[in-house]
Amino acid sequence: MKRQHYDSFNEHAQSAAAVKRLKNDGSSSLVQRSHLNFDFDKICTVTLSHINIYCCLTCGKYLQGRDRNSPAFLHSVNTYHQLYLSFHNLQLYSLPENKIVKAQYFNETLDSIRFAAFPVFKSSELLEYPKRCLDIAGNSYFNGFVPLTDSLGRDFCNVILMAIGHVIPLRDWLVTKCDRDANNEFVKFLSLVTRKQWNPSLFRVSVLTDELLGYLALSEPKLLTQHDPRSFLLHILHLMASQSSELKKLVNENIQGQLEICTNKDSVTITKKRVPFKCLTLDLPSESFFKSSSTKDTINQVQLGELFKKYYGKKEKIEGDVTKVLNLVTFPNYLILHFNRFDRSNKCPIKNRNKTLVEFPTKMMLGGIKYQLIANIIHNENKEAQTLANLAQDNESVWSVQLFNRKEMQWFEFSKNQFKSKQKQLLFLDETYMQFWEKDDGGTNRM
Ligand SMILES: [Zn+2]
Repeated sequence: MKRQHYDSFNEHAQSAAAVKRLKNDGSSSLVQRSHLNFDFDKICTVTLSHINIYCCLTCGKYLQGRDRNSPAFLHSVNTYHQLYLSFHNLQLYSLPENKIVKAQYFNETLDSIRFAAFPVFKSSELLEYPKRCLDIAGNSYFNGFVPLTDSLGRDFCNVILMAIGHVIPLRDWLVTKCDRDANNEFVKFLSLVTRKQWNPSLFRVSVLTDELLGYLALSEPKLLTQHDPRSFLLHILHLMASQSSELKKLVNENIQGQLEICTNKDSVTITKKRVPFKCLTLDLPSESFFKSSSTKDTINQVQLGELFKKYYGKKEKIEGDVTKVLNLVTFPNYLILHFNRFDRSNKCPIKNRNKTLVEFPTKMMLGGIKYQLIANIIHNENKEAQTLANLAQDNESVWSVQLFNRKEMQWFEFSKNQFKSKQKQLLFLDETYMQFWEKDDGGTNRM
């Protein structure tokens, strides 16, 4: 539909209504920050269009256009809501006058609106993070330690996005180097989620990832059907590397390690090759391994160190007298581990998963390198979904993540939009599925 440009207002009109009120009462009655949420997909609630979307700063509605008879224009006439934020250029407009609110009328509230829509950071500020912050209702939080959620409950994605936000070189690039007008949509949405995760002035203590996940659901349809944090992580790392040369460099420099694989026959090496990895899979011992000590109700437990033996020159038989030997040779700044619990070829991979608990420290030495655990992704079953009706079906997974605040030496656990502090001693009582370990080098990884 072709819209008529609305230009019949003159300079005199601008001095009326909204701008006058702005001047007099500092916008407090025009702007209701508790109603505002800039995390949703930018769709007009009337036309369902993605183009030219504005947010009414009084009621928070997303509406298209500012021209006469556009949804935003009509909304301003019908409700007397006068201030609008453009998601396209972050300009503030007064409607129905259709005028830009000039910078001289800006105050703390209007600045905070633009900051919430697109938080910006100086490199020097990042050194101070995480810091204790307050939302507009006075709830206390540490920036970086806020729940990421989405309206479709895709927690297998959100736990990974939360952990990626704590890989400091990636975070630093995403929140300081990636511009609003970056021409890659994936990188732009990922940057925005990370900016909001680290926002020290959130309106409320949670961030929605709907825009990024909505984009991925359309552009990478298979990605969100697997419901597996590991697949999601690997795909996200692949997208980072394929969509941005700078992110590729950072991923390779910080997350990628190398493994040497030797095949031997009669103790003579036949082949030797080095392969890069971004996520190291550790196999859990099978039920039969514990057979002598376990009963039906015993929860089996294994030490993390035991699981690493596979990567320290342990001979594995391939066929006849041919053996394979693996050795970790390059250790990344961020070591990502995956605990192999699910046999995805099984009809019910969740019901029949390996439930072995892994006992792990939160600091470890690996190949002479000190690592600190910074993120622990854990698996639970959705007990509420287990009804008689679905006994024949597989169970549902629920994903949570535990994150370490180095500054406060404190662990937090995030599950859906809830979070709580967690005692270090209680971390390994859950089914750990993935872990992020940071090289403990006195902070030189950090900017
Ligand atoms: Zn409104």
